[in-house]
Formats: sequence, structure tokens, C-alpha cells
Amino acid sequence: MTRSSLAHLLLTVLALPTLCDCFATSEVLAFAAPLKTTRFHDTITNAAVCKVQYDWLVSKTGKTTLKSPNPLEYKPCPYETWAITLFKLFLPARAASLQFAANSVKPDLDENTKNDPRFHFDSDLMISATNARLIAQRTAIINGLKVPAPDYNSLREAIGSSLHTIQDFYSHTNWIEMGKTQPNAHIAVDADLGIQIAPPDMAMCSDCSRDAMTPQQLKQVNDWDKDISNNLLELLGWTYDPLNVYICKNNILNNGYLTSGYFGSEEATAPKIASQMKCSHGGGADSTSRITATGGINKDTNTFLYSPHYDLHYAAADMAVQATINYFNGIREAVNNDNFGRLLGLF
Ligand SMILES: [Zn+2]
Repeated sequence: MTRSSLAHLLLTVLALPTLCDCFATSEVLAFAAPLKTTRFHDTITNAAVCKVQYDWLVSKTGKTTLKSPNPLEYKPCPYETWAITLFKLFLPARAASLQFAANSVKPDLDENTKNDPRFHFDSDLMISATNARLIAQRTAIINGLKVPAPDYNSLREAIGSSLHTIQDFYSHTNWIEMGKTQPNAHIAVDADLGIQIAPPDMAMCSDCSRDAMTPQQLKQVNDWDKDISNNLLELLGWTYDPLNVYICKNNILNNGYLTSGYFGSEEATAPKIASQMKCSHGGGADSTSRITATGGINKDTNTFLYSPHYDLHYAAADMAVQATINYFNGIREAVNNDNFGRLLGLF
């Protein structure tokens, strides 16, 4: 990295608001080598919105010659190809996608939401309250789209915010570890999630051991503590403690029940109590990793430095993309008018 690019990076990083101690949230953070292959909230949202826009476009124009994008390839949306085929510029569509994406990052940055488990589907105690919040927000969004002149900017903000929480469901809970192959269709729609949630007195995780790490992995854990990219992340408030890092396999007990990780920065709302043997979010940023049950279950990143279940990261990201598409499709069905196309910047 040249000195000028390092200076540019530093300025970019310092211009960001302070992050919560949670998910590697935006593509901006891919400067850090261990996060290079991570699917971020904005990556997931842009991939999904491209497919939603394509579907609406084809249904509206009948142009079936347009090739359907595969959102799970996480490639840039082919607006230029659409423009050539349809003789129409797609700048508003690109802008709308970026707006959804930026707002799907925000709950990790905003002081009012970053440490509130109800915005991140954290802690099994708060799962129902999180879903209730999403249902209320979805109702407001649908009503907002039915008026003659909707406020599209605030609707994109609200949708982006809801998408953040919906996407977190797949990397923070044990839905993926349960072997589920489809998103949970009840989220943001029904108060009953269609699955039993672990009650407060049910042990949900067993202790992970740091002995599971190889000497090489342990060296990585300690080297990362001194790495300049990590120091930059810490400037953003994304703390890292090598002693929080565990690699966990098969540490979820009672896997027929839905659970989610507890998180250090959310202790004021949802404290982790050692005697309950609940799961932690886990990873270098989570101080509850060291409270029994030690370790954690998050799949937020593709590195064990931040995610004890990093090997399931891509499965969680792919399902978050599908859940994002489903969320849009549900709103489209409920609204059933051209305002949905306008929301997508297509009409
Ligand atoms: Zn989050």
C-alpha cells in the first residue's frame, strides 16, 4: 500500500461514524485483509435488489431477453446492459439500490440502534421483541406505499433498516446450524416464528476450548492484535481482544430450539448470565465470549478472528440474500401498484 493510499484509507475510515462491536458491516471495511472475502450488509442488499429490480422490469416490459442476474454471484448489477437493451438510463435504479444498501448498514452505526439487540436479532430473550418491531415497521412501509405520493426516501431508509435485522437473523441465530435450507417466511410477517424459541432457563451452548486452535492460528490471533488494519478498526470502535477468539464446532445444544448469541455491548439490555449456558455472539470483538458457555456462534465474517462459526458464513450470507428478495416480494404483493417500481427507481 502506498503512502497516499494509506492516507486516503485513514481519512475514509476516520470519516465513518463509530461502529458497534458487531458485524463487519460495510464493504468499506474490506481493506482489512481478514475481511476481504466477507459478504457485508451492503454487498448482500445490492445483490438482492438487483434481482428484485430485474423481476419488476421484466414483468413491466415483457423483455424476457434480458438475462436474469444470479444474486448469489455477488456481481455488480448489469445496469449498462439493461440500458442498451431497453434504451433507457438506469441511474435512478442504481441510486435506489445504493440507498437501500447504505441504510442496511446504518443500524450498526447509529448510536440509538448499534447496541440494541432488537436491531440485530441478538440474544434469545429478545427474538420475539425483534420480530414484533419488524412487523410494525413492515406494516408502516406497506401503508406508506399505498398513499398517492409516497415519501420514497424515508421508505428506503425504513426498508434498509429492516433488511439489516432480517439479514442478521441468518448470521446471529442457529437457523443455519439447524440445517434449514430456506429463509424463515414468518419473520416481519407473523408474531409466531413457526419454531420454538429457547426459554430463558434452557442451556443452549457448551464451552468451546481455545485448545482447538492450531499454533499457526494462535499466532494469527496475536499478530492481528498488532496489525495496522486492526488498529484502524479499533479507532472506529470495533474492539479486538485476542482472548475473545475461539473456533467452535458442534457447540450448540438443544438444536431443535431457536437461539441467538449474547453480545458484550448489549449487556445493559440483555446480559449474559454464566449459569444459564447461553450462546455468545463470539469473536474478537465480543467480551461475552469468555463467559461460559465460552466461544460463540456468529457467522458474520469469513474469518475465525471475528466469527467462531466462520465456516458457515457463506451459507448465512446466501440465505440472507434470499430473505432480502423475499421481503421485497412480500411488499410488492401487498402493495400491488406502480409505486413499488418507483420505490426501486425504475418508473
Ligand atoms: Zn447488526
